[in-house]
Parts: sequence; structure tokens; C-alpha cells
Amino acid sequence: MTDCIFCKIINKDIPAKIAYEDEEMLVFHDIQPKAAVHLLIIPKKHITSLAHTTAEDTLLLGKLLQKTAILAKEFGLTDGYKTQINTGIGGGQEVFHLHLHVLGTPKPK
Ligand code: AMP
Ligand code: ZN
Repeated sequence: MTDCIFCKIINKDIPAKIAYEDEEMLVFHDIQPKAAVHLLIIPKKHITSLAHTTAEDTLLLGKLLQKTAILAKEFGLTDGYKTQINTGIGGGQEVFHLHLHVLGTPKPK
């Protein structure tokens, strides 16, 4: 999608602070963080929102969630964290490329 800001981040056309990347997903820091750690986990495949997923996306969705748990631990969110997926205008979605927010405060060691 040429006019999608998150696709542009995937294609490295615009910069982002990348936390993790593989062939199927990209994880980067939210540009306006609402917590000490605020990550966005996105599929590289352009999917407009959660409402646009199909049965074909089941494995991908599972991988995004599983990576969320791994990264939350890596970022020190061992006390817990919030995950959020805004879907559609009514759900407060502003960027129409499926993304999962991870928000939390690292636990001091
Ligand atoms: P949502 O309301 O769920 O669509 O959230 C979109 C999120 O994307 C917001 O928290 C924005 O701060 C974030 N965002 C928008 N543009 C960028 C960008 N270029 N780099 C990182 N995060 C962004
Ligand atoms: Zn996109």
C-alpha cells in the first residue's frame, strides 16, 4: 500500500526506532509513547484492521501475539503490560494498518 505510513516504515521509506524484525512482522517504538515502553507490533502484510483479517491470517495473528509476550519480557515488562488493538473509526484507530500496542513500565532489577 503506497499511501500507508506503516507500509512506508516496513519499506524503510520513513524512519522508525525498530525493536524487532523478521520476514512476517515489524516491531517499533510508538512515536508518541503513552508509557515508558510503547511498542507497535505490525504484520508486514498490509491488513487494514483486525476486522479485515480472515481465516488465512490465523497463524500470523498467533505469531504476533506470541512475539508480544517475548518482547514484553525482553523490555523488562515482567510486572505485566497492556495490549491494545484499536479497530475502525469507532475503535479509535488512526493508522489503517493492523497494529497491536504494547504498553508498560519496566520493573526495576
Ligand atoms: P491507533 O490509534 O491504534 O491507530 O494508533 C496509531 C499509533 O501510531 C499512534 O499511537 C501513533 O502515535 C503511532 N504512530 C503514528 N505514526 C507513527 C510513526 N511514524 N512512527 C511510530 N508511531 C507512529
Ligand atoms: Zn500498510
